[in-house]
Amino acid sequence: MVGSLEQVAQAIRAYNKFLITWHVDPDPDCVGSGLALKQALQAMGKDVICVSPDPLGEWFEFLPGIESCAVFTEGFSPHVDAVIVEDCEPDRCGGLVSYLKSGVPIINIDHHGTNLGFGQAFYINPRAAATGEIIYQLLTEYLHVSLTEAMATNLYAALAGDTGTFRYSNTNSRVLAAASELVKHGANPAEIAVHLYENRAYEEVDFLRAALDTLEISPRGEMSWITVTKTMLGERQWSGQRSEDLIKYPRMIKTVKLAIMFRELDAAKTKVSFRSRDNIDASKLAALFGGGGHMHAAGCTIDKPLPEAKAMVLEAAAELLAASPGNGSE
Ligand code: 5GP
Ligand code: MN
Repeated sequence: MVGSLEQVAQAIRAYNKFLITWHVDPDPDCVGSGLALKQALQAMGKDVICVSPDPLGEWFEFLPGIESCAVFTEGFSPHVDAVIVEDCEPDRCGGLVSYLKSGVPIINIDHHGTNLGFGQAFYINPRAAATGEIIYQLLTEYLHVSLTEAMATNLYAALAGDTGTFRYSNTNSRVLAAASELVKHGANPAEIAVHLYENRAYEEVDFLRAALDTLEISPRGEMSWITVTKTMLGERQWSGQRSEDLIKYPRMIKTVKLAIMFRELDAAKTKVSFRSRDNIDASKLAALFGGGGHMHAAGCTIDKPLPEAKAMVLEAAAELLAASPGNGSE
């Protein structure tokens, strides 16, 4: 844990005009957390805008207040007292990075252990299952905001998103207790689950056909991967939930301890997602290639064409698996 939530609360109390932003490839945790925080700060009388580095897409439309989110465009440089960067470090904010380096005060809130903490006030707690859990604590224990149904729905979606709706190893009594409070304040678990998992267009499910056709597995069965090329993706936009939709297949194989997804961003850029089990530290693997994340969910972007990036990552992954106790070739 680095920084302090009290310091973050103090900085928030001190300023009036905020911009809230998050990481590229947005997911329910960063967007739900950002919207709930915006609504809470507005309830405190502050002036707040949310700006997403990447388009949000239809999938996020169920989050209350999403229509008020702006998407970054070139030349965007608003005048605010402070920027709250949540669910990532400032370097993962895509087009906003140069604005964030212009000297505007930054408040950083995150749960990724690979984030060292940035700005004049920060709080990074890798034990939090989601950034939404930290925002929940900030609003209820530090800023004493009364939770509205909109805030509760946004925060519940954040918790559900990052815990695979309370199934992953980051699910614990704390996050379930927070979820319970959010339901008391109006979040509807069944409705949110439908939005998260069962509102795909036919084209989305159809795309799985092509993606699943690329599924591969290592000879010993402990590593499996899926590959998405630009050609396969066609005109479809990418957004955070698509990673979850796809990587769950290599991950669900019972012998697999490390699931990987390779995605061609352009001719010389490849995005890699990792999901792991047990003692396999995916964030270490991602860090080897300049990325980061959590022990069991991490990612990186490699400046190499897909085949080269794939070969490098698969070699490093095989080494990591061989070096991890209980997974070697002995
Ligand atoms: P995903 O594979 O869904 O993009 O991301 C999995 C996890 O790894 C998320 O917690 C995400 O924030 C983190 N992650 C993904 N890509 C990167 C990256 O390029 N840099 C860092 N620091 N974290 C990443
Ligand atoms: Mn998160």
